Amino acid sequence: TSYGFRQVDEGEKQGMVNDVFHGVARRYDIMNDVMSLGMHRAWKDAMVSALNPGKSSAYRVLDVAGGTGDIAFRIIEESRRLAHATILDINGSMLEVGRQRAQKRRLEDNLTFVEANAEDLPFDDDSFDAYTIAFGIRNVPRIDLALREAARVLRRGGRFLCLEFSDVDLPLLEKIYDAWSFKAIPQFGRAITGDSEPYRYLVESIRKFPNQQDFAAMIEAADLSRVKWTNYTGGVAALHSAWKL
Ligand code: SAM
Repeated sequence: TSYGFRQVDEGEKQGMVNDVFHGVARRYDIMNDVMSLGMHRAWKDAMVSALNPGKSSAYRVLDVAGGTGDIAFRIIEESRRLAHATILDINGSMLEVGRQRAQKRRLEDNLTFVEANAEDLPFDDDSFDAYTIAFGIRNVPRIDLALREAARVLRRGGRFLCLEFSDVDLPLLEKIYDAWSFKAIPQFGRAITGDSEPYRYLVESIRKFPNQQDFAAMIEAADLSRVKWTNYTGGVAALHSAWKL
């Protein structure tokens, strides 16, 4: 397969994304540490602190593109194991790894796993106190649909939080980051999984994703309010937050 830099249609894009994550599910957690030099852990911790989840068994959060559970597990712990999280992902292999990790941590009672598409959520309107998505939205072919679905399933007063790779605003860091992404990441990918092409695709998807300001405008266009963002590590990642009012 070629995951080159040509234009692809939406169905094709989702197909590539699915291949990538089916292929890496078992090694996904270690790849995350390698590719982000462990920084994804601090970014995820910061996201969950910003959410400040309700410490009650009535608190319901939906973690979309939840993969192997990193965000949902943190939210449950932060809620003193009271909140309930639904981990939704389009990819059964990622969810399966998440289920096994949840069992090891004895978090199953606080979790529900759902295999579905972020563009078409199988939930009623106004169902959740919070919607989170970390390093997921850039993989979704129709981001506007996913954002509208987020707004729909949130209750009024509910919180939207999105962590994603973003635009680096420090020139020196940008140079290092470019070398890292275009050279090192595909090589690590090949060393660990035997194939560098999916990693080239992932790096490219990061570069194609809208910058902080443009993404904020997309969130507003989906009828979410008071959009703000915070850069992490000079903009390598950014956390966007908003409310359903
Ligand atoms: N949130 C996790 C984390 O931060 O570690 C996983 C992020 S992983 C980079 C991206 C996830 O998005 C994958 O598990 C993939 O299956 C999922 N994904 C891709 N397209 C999706 C879609 N249309 N709907 C739901 N999940 C999707």
